[in-house]
Amino acid sequence: MISVLNVTKHFDEVHALSEVDLDIATGEFITIVGPSGCGKSTLLRIIAGLINSTEGSVNKPDTSMGAFVFQDAALLPWRNVQKNVELLMELESGFSKSERAMKAHDVLNQVGLEGFEKSYPHQLSGGMKMRLSLARSLVLKPDYLLLDEPLSAVDELTREVLQEEIHTLWKEEKFTSILVTHNVTEAVYLSNRVVVMSPRPGKITHIVDIPFKKRDQKLRSSTKFHKLIGDISGKLRTWKRKKYPHQF
Ligand code: ADP
Ligand code: MG
Repeated sequence: MISVLNVTKHFDEVHALSEVDLDIATGEFITIVGPSGCGKSTLLRIIAGLINSTEGSVNKPDTSMGAFVFQDAALLPWRNVQKNVELLMELESGFSKSERAMKAHDVLNQVGLEGFEKSYPHQLSGGMKMRLSLARSLVLKPDYLLLDEPLSAVDELTREVLQEEIHTLWKEEKFTSILVTHNVTEAVYLSNRVVVMSPRPGKITHIVDIPFKKRDQKLRSSTKFHKLIGDISGKLRTWKRKKYPHQF
């Protein structure tokens, strides 16, 4: 379990997060939605240990390993697909050349990039870049994956396909997922729970359970799916109309 305990964050005069409490169960898929600037990325970075909170703490199992997937894929343009995936293994050392190649091969197969090992990032579509970024994060079998708006740069159709692939990877690999997205449909489709945050200073205002067992096209067109999307969008819209017109 990952526990966020009473986390508050100030950047000089900016009060980014206020008293955030959140328990994330092992193997859970949790998604954070909220208006721009409400501190979603800041919360992910605090969970990852990339920055410190001003107050409060994050507890994670001592031996757990995390990986981050960024919006812009953050690939190294001078390394080909296989070498991008092998990067972390090279940094970790302890992996022989053949071991690295084998692990890269397996994970590239998993994300549907087999055959593109020798291609360079500039030769890939937006969706393929994101697949590569996922492969690179998953190759060392992390316990938890932090995804910061990973699909916001791809077109709508690719986005749905990638959502399904992320769901399949999560089911197969059983890592804990913490996703930040602007897209409520994506949040409802992928998650066990959706966390709704308020504008700055970011606070958790609602946590919504998503009861669906199966993710497929039938769910996407169902009334219960759209009702939940409507409920969560409604919770987000309240601020647009009332207290925070300057935020939108
Ligand atoms: P979100 O991801 O929800 O859009 P962020 O976590 O990126 O929001 O930012 C929350 C607030 O904190 C914003 O007002 C942003 O400008 C501010 N902020 C984020 N990172 C820094 C930083 N390194 N220095 C100063 N202010 C920051
Ligand atoms: Mg952000």
